[in-house]
Amino acid sequence: MRRIAAAGLLCLCIPSAPVSGQNTMDDVQITTQQLTDGVYMLTGQGGNIGVSVGPDGVFVIDDQFAPLTEKILAAIAAITSESVRFVFNTHWHGDHTGGNENMGEAGALIVAHDNVRERMSADQVLQRIGRPVSTTPASPEGALPVVTFTDDVSFHINGDRLHAFHVENAHTDGDAIVHFVGANVVHMGDTFFRDRFPFIDTASGGSIDGLIAAAGAALGVMDGETQIIPGHGPLSSREDLRAYRDALKAMRDAVADLMAEGMSLNQIQAARPVQAQARMWGQERTAEDTFVATIHHGLGGR
Ligand SMILES: [Zn+2]
Ligand SMILES: [Zn+2]
Repeated sequence: MRRIAAAGLLCLCIPSAPVSGQNTMDDVQITTQQLTDGVYMLTGQGGNIGVSVGPDGVFVIDDQFAPLTEKILAAIAAITSESVRFVFNTHWHGDHTGGNENMGEAGALIVAHDNVRERMSADQVLQRIGRPVSTTPASPEGALPVVTFTDDVSFHINGDRLHAFHVENAHTDGDAIVHFVGANVVHMGDTFFRDRFPFIDTASGGSIDGLIAAAGAALGVMDGETQIIPGHGPLSSREDLRAYRDALKAMRDAVADLMAEGMSLNQIQAARPVQAQARMWGQERTAEDTFVATIHHGLGGR
């Protein structure tokens, strides 16, 4: 059941990836990219992983899917002999928390926003416009965050300060962005999908205005040298995030204008207010229409 749920989430968060079965997961390779002296970005299948290594131990941001834990730990072992002390979840989705139970068993302390623990503790119904409703079952106790926070929390390790701060109602209602203050790296979780339409989990409290605000909050701690780990997609720069934020804002406003003219959702979709951006990102009509519907919903449309 859990595997099916994970595969469902995978489709939801990575529409371009093949539908996952166990065999596909067996083929997944974890790739390690060094960003600074002690900071790495790991990619495999699911949300991008951020890693801080040093004498105080290993700090991991997001842990993809349970079947990948061994490979993720092997990739970390190739960098350092220290063990994983902390796992931080940027939000509750299974492609970011699927390895929690394994990581916890391996001795890591799991930390996340209050709402991550709350959502993982109960069955979650996922509703995406144009797709069948699916249910993600509650996670076992061992997968739940042990330490939770409301607004922000800092980790003083490996000679750096990792400042994790909550952004309200963005991709979900439990998102946190992690700023490696000294290393000048920011992990955005799924508040940033590089070069494609975002997924806003409205059933989990996500909203277009919150997503735009989250990007703005993150931009506020960055400079021209900041390296950004998006939830999905390649390593990015402040300019990439700014372009994304501006595009979101423009698309939101375009849909709002048509709503103000009294158009129905169908009429707005037919007018194709986000077509230019869809073309730029190489996205299909269905993705375009879904995003218009998401904005429409977020702006109180019926
Ligand atoms: Zn994701
Ligand atoms: Zn997500």
